[in-house]
Amino acid sequence: MHPTYEVVIGLEVHAQLLTASKLFCGDSVKFGSDPNTHVSPVTLGHPGTLPYLNSKAVELALRMGLACRCRIERHSYFARKNYFYPDLPKGYQISQHTTPICQGGYVTIPSEAGTRDIRLTRIHLEEDAGKSIHDLHPQQTCLDYNRAGTPLIEIVTEPDLRSADEAFAFLTEVRKIVRWIGVCDGNMEEGSLRCDANISIRLHGATDLGTRVEVKNLNSIRNVRKAIEVEVARLAVILDGGMQVQQETRSFNADADTTFSIRTKEDADDYRYFPEPDLPPFECTETILEAVRSAMPELPDSLRERLKVDFGLSVYDAQQLCEDKELADYFLFNIPDAAKSKSFANWLLGPVRSILNEKNITWTQLSVPRESWRELLELVEAGQIGFSVASHRILPMMMDDLMAKPGQIAIDLDLLQDAGVDDIRQWVEEVIKAMPDKVMEYRKGKKGLIGLFMGEVKKRSRGKADPKQTNDLLLELLNAAI
Ligand code: ADP
Ligand code: MG
Repeated sequence: MHPTYEVVIGLEVHAQLLTASKLFCGDSVKFGSDPNTHVSPVTLGHPGTLPYLNSKAVELALRMGLACRCRIERHSYFARKNYFYPDLPKGYQISQHTTPICQGGYVTIPSEAGTRDIRLTRIHLEEDAGKSIHDLHPQQTCLDYNRAGTPLIEIVTEPDLRSADEAFAFLTEVRKIVRWIGVCDGNMEEGSLRCDANISIRLHGATDLGTRVEVKNLNSIRNVRKAIEVEVARLAVILDGGMQVQQETRSFNADADTTFSIRTKEDADDYRYFPEPDLPPFECTETILEAVRSAMPELPDSLRERLKVDFGLSVYDAQQLCEDKELADYFLFNIPDAAKSKSFANWLLGPVRSILNEKNITWTQLSVPRESWRELLELVEAGQIGFSVASHRILPMMMDDLMAKPGQIAIDLDLLQDAGVDDIRQWVEEVIKAMPDKVMEYRKGKKGLIGLFMGEVKKRSRGKADPKQTNDLLLELLNAAI
């Protein structure tokens, strides 16, 4: 926290919707195609062309609105936002102004006090602009209009965020939600999720908001946090020096960790908004809304509760499983039975996740069948295979070959803990005989040495002694009258 000033932040988040085509025509929205290959006359704004509304985009916007508990606007219309810029072929952007399709609502973020609800002002639909490319030609700017007309939602928050860390948490949560409900791929590096940060500071206890600056070009969640920190420091120097903050739009330079002014702020009036005459108003009927509602997947917070209540998972495990929809789905589809939920969650969050990370593969690509999980969990539970051997030797083979059965792998590689009790007793006796000093220390009270003896027996048995039996025998012989 800054000693003198309170930090106030409102975010404007643009998310490209996961439609196949553009907001007002059939051009593809595919990323990474050759420049200017998805540019029909509608995209280019040729005279006489008419837009028509992509219903999938509306559905996705409504999904986000429902996920954020917004009020849904029943009669919305589009507006022209007029400005001149080379990447905007029509000379105006079709957006929403007075009737955003979703209003109010909130996103819950983790905070020091547990959780905090960050209020949303609105979520509206609009089209993206094209791209100016400045580094291709030494003297000229090149233009790629493929992106022009791509459907976006803009999520605008109230000025509720109070630190760079809260902005970081908010964006992390928004990215999780859009991915979870299939609205946007959440990829900030490719620009499908973008954020502008509005930042002001005021004296602690002040009620009026300070003059804000808006920082653009933030292409990672980390950069959003960094840019806010840098900007807050700059604003504090201005106020400390008794000067006034200029309302302006700035850009973040991630290489230098600085921001620089790109323009003084334009007002809404400058855009000469008026209703888009080429599109009819959009009526969101109860039927449409009900169809969107019923196609929504269960949201993470509801699933988290269900994992706790129905599956008896800890808060932490439930939280972890709900960080990623693919992981949560994998858990739900492949759990052998509810009685094994705790150990199955441990397997997924521990060894499975680390192998996936190492090999850079996703949960949807993981194809171990449920029956193999059942077998593995039962073998470990029954003490026939040690957890460490199971996770380091057997699991990777199961993940490589979906036909591989854990019991068979254990037999083939001689990994079963199948030594008889007489053999175990003999190894235990050998270990006790070989380490008289340590045994003495143990008997004098250094009980932690049991781990050392266990390890020795494990070595001698080459992993074939059941740890439970080993432990029992060790205790019996170590504590026996001397
Ligand atoms: P625009 O930037 O298009 O003019 P708004 O004026 O509605 O739009 O504000 C955009 C964002 O700026 C919102 O997220 C809002 O919460 C935030 N905001 C507005 N005033 C301030 C302020 N004084 N300090 C910080 N954020 C602010
Ligand atoms: Mg703005």
